[in-house]
Amino acid sequence: MKLFNSLTRQKEEFIPIENKKVRFYSCGQTIYLDVHLGNVRTYSYWDVLVRYLRWRGFDVFWVQNITDVGHLTDDADSGEDRIVKTARDKNLEPMVLVETQIKRFFEDIDALNIQRADVYPRATGHIPEMIDFISELLKKGYAYVVNGSVYFDVHKFPSYGELSPSSYSEESAGVRVAVNPEKRNPRDFALWIKAPPNYLMKWPSPWGLGYPGWHLECSVMSQKYLGDTLDIHSGGIEHLMLHHPNEIAQSEARTGKKFVNYWIHANHLIVNGRKMSKSLGNYILIRDLLKKYDPTAIRFFLINSHYRKNLDFNEDAFKEAQNLLTRIKNTLTLIGQIPGGEETTLTADLEILETEFIQAMDDDLNTVAAIQSIMKFIRKLNFALENQRKTVLDVSKGKIIELLEILGITLETANMEQNKGELVESLVDLLINVREDLRKAKMFGISDKIRSNLSKLGIILEDKGTGTIWKKQ
Ligand code: AMP
Ligand code: ZN
Repeated sequence: MKLFNSLTRQKEEFIPIENKKVRFYSCGQTIYLDVHLGNVRTYSYWDVLVRYLRWRGFDVFWVQNITDVGHLTDDADSGEDRIVKTARDKNLEPMVLVETQIKRFFEDIDALNIQRADVYPRATGHIPEMIDFISELLKKGYAYVVNGSVYFDVHKFPSYGELSPSSYSEESAGVRVAVNPEKRNPRDFALWIKAPPNYLMKWPSPWGLGYPGWHLECSVMSQKYLGDTLDIHSGGIEHLMLHHPNEIAQSEARTGKKFVNYWIHANHLIVNGRKMSKSLGNYILIRDLLKKYDPTAIRFFLINSHYRKNLDFNEDAFKEAQNLLTRIKNTLTLIGQIPGGEETTLTADLEILETEFIQAMDDDLNTVAAIQSIMKFIRKLNFALENQRKTVLDVSKGKIIELLEILGITLETANMEQNKGELVESLVDLLINVREDLRKAKMFGISDKIRSNLSKLGIILEDKGTGTIWKKQ
């Protein structure tokens, strides 16, 4: 499989460090508001990546953080902790907000069939590890303490900004935010932040009462569970400029080893030309969207675009996704409703489907091409259905369900079966009514034909004084 590695800016063959084992970390949610469509666009891809790798026989260990402290309103260490601020606005204890939001986070991702990671470490649960990490950086001379806060000195780490060279611009740091006078260099970033008086979210440390910096959390939690070097680290494209270069600097400074072999970044969901974001207020919450749209259609919409392209949110694209899904469901529902027939050449087409699907997914997770391979096969299935070629259709149905599952689209086959059962019952009832009318009109020839043909299909009609009943043979 090839993945576009943001570090080398090219597609590279994916080779894990250890045989088939994959150590995967994805940046997760800062847990102060409900999940919006932009968040799940990114999460859907990591889910699909994990599903696909597992399907190809890799043993994936997936960690995704939950940030419950330390993410300030501006990513570059200024402003206020997002959780503390929101909790105050809502008149809640910060940890009450966190508990509520975690519960709602899982409700939302479960509703969208986004698989859960193996571990969801919370920043507040790893304070001792963070203090140890910072102590090591101080001992090695990569960090410095000023007035109860600790900063990473980017000038001590010569390859800083390798992931995105433009991020290493001291002027740009100064332009975005007023540079904190405690920092030696504008690009230095906080590892530990001194807590203001009366602050609830604080912990004792060798440097006084404070809390960890957001960038530090991901390094500490990924390395705790996955080791010094990860196979894949993913996140939204905005992390390319600051969060991820900072993660690399502090992790590699500590271990002296490469932190991540493959960095992958997902582009954004866009609304009217701007990133959907909590701070812009142009977001659509998943729980609101679910009032209007089927979760499977939402998933289909999200996945029907390449992860390295922006995706525009608009109703038409949504309807298009819903239509494609309906076409697939219609075809699969028809399978099994037709009587037996001859063998077909679909076996060869099935192999083509699987080959094309794998080629697409191996090419940097090209979910769009993967969906196209499925739609092409659906057209062939429709043709075979018209010609009543049943034998290979059941296998085809199973294969489509299997491949869609890798894309996070779980079709409710149980429902489809139930609908089919209900449909059969209604049709038999309808035939009984028609036969009744035919008999009243003394058209016994046709009414007898209905009874004998139903009997060939295993449905026995019994005429009683109260009307006709039917049973399966
Ligand atoms: P946050 O809670 O804001 O840190 O975001 C959590 C995750 O959602 C991060 O991986 C972000 O990159 C991702 N994300 C936020 N907004 C969008 C968006 N509009 N499109 C795609 N991903 C997004
Ligand atoms: Zn992160």
